[in-house]
Amino acid sequence: MSKFILGEAIKGAHKIVKKAEERLNQAIAEKGENCPVSFPDTAYFIPIIYSILGHKVEKLGDFKPVLEKSKSLLPQEPTEKLWLPYLGPGLDAGMATLFAEEIIEATKYLIGPIPVDGIWLGAPNDVILRERGVEFTDGRAPGFAVVVGAAPNNEIAVKIAQELQSASLYTFFCGHTNGVSVAEQLAEEGIDLGWETRLVPFGKDIYSAIYAIGFAVRAAMAFGGIPAGDFRRILMYVKNRIFAFLLALGHIDEEKYATAAGAISFGAPTLTDTDIPEILPTGICLYEHVVSNVPYEEMVDKALEVRGLKIEVTKIELPVAYGPAFEGERVRKENLYLEAGGAKSTSFELLTMAPSEEVEDDKIEVIGPEIESFPEGSKIPLAIVAKVAGAKMKREFEPVLERQIHRFINEAQGVMHIGQRDINWIRISKEAQKKGLKLRHLGDIIRGKLLADYGRIVDKVQVTIYTEEGKVKELLEGARKIFHERDERLQALSDESVDIYYSCTLCQSFAPTHVCVITPERIGLCGAYTWLDGGAAYEIDPTGGNQPIEKGALIDAEKGIWEGVNEFIKKKSGGKIENVSLYSMIHDPMTCCGCFECILAILPMTNGIMVVQRGYQGMTPTGMTFSTLAGMVGGGQQTPGFMGVGKTYLASKKFISYDGGLLRLVWMPKELKEELRPMLQKRAEELGVPDLVDKIADETVTTTEEEVLAFMEKVGHPSLTMAALL
Ligand code: SF4
Ligand code: ZN
Repeated sequence: MSKFILGEAIKGAHKIVKKAEERLNQAIAEKGENCPVSFPDTAYFIPIIYSILGHKVEKLGDFKPVLEKSKSLLPQEPTEKLWLPYLGPGLDAGMATLFAEEIIEATKYLIGPIPVDGIWLGAPNDVILRERGVEFTDGRAPGFAVVVGAAPNNEIAVKIAQELQSASLYTFFCGHTNGVSVAEQLAEEGIDLGWETRLVPFGKDIYSAIYAIGFAVRAAMAFGGIPAGDFRRILMYVKNRIFAFLLALGHIDEEKYATAAGAISFGAPTLTDTDIPEILPTGICLYEHVVSNVPYEEMVDKALEVRGLKIEVTKIELPVAYGPAFEGERVRKENLYLEAGGAKSTSFELLTMAPSEEVEDDKIEVIGPEIESFPEGSKIPLAIVAKVAGAKMKREFEPVLERQIHRFINEAQGVMHIGQRDINWIRISKEAQKKGLKLRHLGDIIRGKLLADYGRIVDKVQVTIYTEEGKVKELLEGARKIFHERDERLQALSDESVDIYYSCTLCQSFAPTHVCVITPERIGLCGAYTWLDGGAAYEIDPTGGNQPIEKGALIDAEKGIWEGVNEFIKKKSGGKIENVSLYSMIHDPMTCCGCFECILAILPMTNGIMVVQRGYQGMTPTGMTFSTLAGMVGGGQQTPGFMGVGKTYLASKKFISYDGGLLRLVWMPKELKEELRPMLQKRAEELGVPDLVDKIADETVTTTEEEVLAFMEKVGHPSLTMAALL
């Protein structure tokens, strides 16, 4: 244990608390004690303060007791007990630092400088929390790194960032060394920054580290259902579930020591490239708190080892990096080597099964010219045809596996994939081409990932890639026939035509009583799991999150209640939920976790309902935004009158059919309306109201309930004359 570090951290904590006091006094002088203060679009107040102290900061004056608390926590003399990894009876200097840093950052939103500036993103809102939080539950993101300071040069910065991306971690940037930060070094090198690429610049001050820790404590409250103020459980949750560590590059000053001390309370160790005394395991904690002098090439590996993170990196021989962090990366026009599809050339992808003897595993062929034969900027014809075989493979899994091609290809650095089937669009960047990426590598990726992720149903994969116009066109006809047959088969499936539904309990790690019941006519509320996906997932992992549910005896056909479904839900919710109606949002609706694509809500005055999708920032006629509504319905509860759903469920015959179905829909954001228009139109025609879609109000008409009603009367919305909803 080093007295040196402790001394530095305590000095830093004193400095930061003093600064927070100055900032708070200045803000109060300018704005008054009653001035509202918050981070944008969050239901978690000032999150670290809220989660640890249970104290809601709503006005500037509410910070005063927090500041007093911080001061009282500041130790005068370095003592050993401060380094306990958990908050013991005595809170430590690090925690005082984090509270003070939240005060500093929050006041920035009132008296400047605004934390959102250039590459810096400032506080993440609740939409981001929910979207990205899911990835921490289902394992797509094993944890996050907080990178502080600057690398000695841009090359090292890029290398470290890409290693973190390859390990699928989120990387949060804060602080600088002599005015330079790693995020700026990456931006200079043209690296895409943002949530999409998992490289997230929070702020140039070290204080913005609170956005990273604030993100983790909000996950604990939102998904772990831990009440604010239960600080022990909050700290344990973050330590055990959200693997985090700090990489401090360059000189570490007192303020950085103090911040690192705060992070240690949350189980996040610090690794540095500089020569400072180490803090080794104490016996309470299994791993080191501070590891110094780590060479750059070993930094990421060492961090994973110290934090005990096992990352499964799929080994596919590729000249470019590969992993989910590259999924969101875009290939822009200036950067484009070649592209296929996207209405610019003939292109499609198809996956079918075949008898084992007809599939030659690992045979990846390119028929037609390879990448180097095409000049830069080409729009090429492309057919990607995969054949798979496996003892457990079934024809109905073909579309499930085929849809994975999107993610598989997208995860390669410098490759972008959009869409599916014959509406796909693939772009390859100049850098990727320069590094040696060939079209055949797309085949290698598809094979490697299918075997890695779906090895229980797929034994052999053969991929043929065609790049001659004539051949691609010829094959496209056959492919379209197959797509068409699949659609027909899917349409023949109904809730009545099957005996088995599938559950999804993947979200239980965040919402312990939540069970998605996935039927042929109702997709999981996150939009990611159809009934076919559920079946495939069950074959792949019979003990996993997707289990078959025997419908059992029918209790109520109108409401959609079955004995088997109720029994299953009761068991899986630990007895908390006893009855679920699959076709109603009012009578025992399905539970919600936090990842719904859309939220339905009743608008009582209109005798109808509205829907709003994630990402819509504006107001809705309920008087609440999406994020406020999301705060109300999540956490594994049944909330009659409100329900989270997947987008495509809106066009299903079983869409809240007990409550009146699609004819009840009276308001939705324009963007969602246009996105779903073709399916909604089809359904509206089936219902005998072909102009229904245009009778649904949107934000260009109004965002108040009264005016929705006026609009409905003007256009003659069918819901007006339907039976009373409530
Ligand atoms: Fe979560 Fe339901 Fe999606 Fe499964 S289907 S991941 S439980 S939201
Ligand atoms: Zn969920």
